[in-house]
Amino acid sequence: MKMKESQFLLIKEQLKKLTSQECFYQKKLEGIDVDQIKSQEDFEKLPFTWKGDLREAYPLGLMAVPEEEIVRIHSSSGTTGIPVIIPYTRQDVEDWAEMFKRCYEMAGITNMDRIQITPGYGLWTAGIGFQNGAERLGAMVVPMGPGNTDKQLRMMMDMKSTVLCATSSYALLLAEEIEKRGIKDRIHLNRAVIGSERWGDKMRKRIANELGVKLFDIYGLTEVYGPGIAINCEKQGAMHYWDDYIYLEIVDPKTGEVLPDGEVGEIVITTLRKQGAPLIRYRTHDLSRIVPGDCPCGSPYPRIDTLIGRTDDMVKVKGVNIFPSQIEEMLAAIDGASSEYQVMVDHLLGKDVLTLFVEVQPGVNKYGLEIEIQDQFKYKIGLTPVVKLVEIGELPRSEKKSTRVFDNRY
Ligand code: ZN
Repeated sequence: MKMKESQFLLIKEQLKKLTSQECFYQKKLEGIDVDQIKSQEDFEKLPFTWKGDLREAYPLGLMAVPEEEIVRIHSSSGTTGIPVIIPYTRQDVEDWAEMFKRCYEMAGITNMDRIQITPGYGLWTAGIGFQNGAERLGAMVVPMGPGNTDKQLRMMMDMKSTVLCATSSYALLLAEEIEKRGIKDRIHLNRAVIGSERWGDKMRKRIANELGVKLFDIYGLTEVYGPGIAINCEKQGAMHYWDDYIYLEIVDPKTGEVLPDGEVGEIVITTLRKQGAPLIRYRTHDLSRIVPGDCPCGSPYPRIDTLIGRTDDMVKVKGVNIFPSQIEEMLAAIDGASSEYQVMVDHLLGKDVLTLFVEVQPGVNKYGLEIEIQDQFKYKIGLTPVVKLVEIGELPRSEKKSTRVFDNRY
């Protein structure tokens, strides 16, 4: 996507500021002459920023303004040990609320809505982001936080909440409880804003039907404000992002090369206005693509597709990038195939071979199904696999998100 003049100017201004004072980016960009950055192409030669860089700056190394300007910190979950701390100025907090307000508006939510917020409050950016955006919109917030399903449903009924903000798994849990308790006619929800993660169409349909809501995927990450930097509109699944606050690139996760619009790769974000902890070319590890062309809704904001997965899940075989979500989607459309599968990639006799194990329903015509899966894989993903059908329950299960792709080549 072509960088706008206004984006280029903001980036230049930010680079000048960051290289002229002692901070994280002064070191990171050492030896780079900002005056020599004259075009998008020059910008694309700047080094990426990785989550590991941010971790090394723990605790407050990312702070790019004097401390008296910082009003708050947030932290991303430290699943690998050291968390990332992001400092926010008052302006950052306001900018985030403004973006979030736009998200609600994009979803058709108004100041007459009652918004029940179930994501957690605290160090995490979720709950408070939903809250600030809703208050800026002028809606009535029901700030629940997570858990306590009894109270959650009681408030939902008594306060006549019209909007649910939740993770997909919690939305599903509430939907199932509502059905189980037979209280659907006492629920007034008409929209749900779901923190964007990869989730299947089947789950989407169940939540939409059982809660009786229109669903909206909201995207964001703590390193870049938090949720609220993109959301889908009523017309379609792709998400509009706020290109006056962030500059977004899609790069090949392996080579780092910027990809043309429409091609799937890793989302890389540069903040345009962030003060407390600006980011230049931050690798999100989220996979998506820029959706070319204009949206039928008329919004001028550009779009990225629903997240396709994480770069950690991707495997490249014979020049084809393969994501678990593609395999899941393909299998979901085939009668007799279950959703359980496993992929093995091996290097045999000088060639890469992809073997797909799929659990199948008892009594199917195995030969016919094998051919069908092979054909569909080739047609939809672009490569012919070796297909092995196994009985239900044969593939390993785990409580956690199970690893389904095993790359044995290296
Ligand atoms: Zn749209």
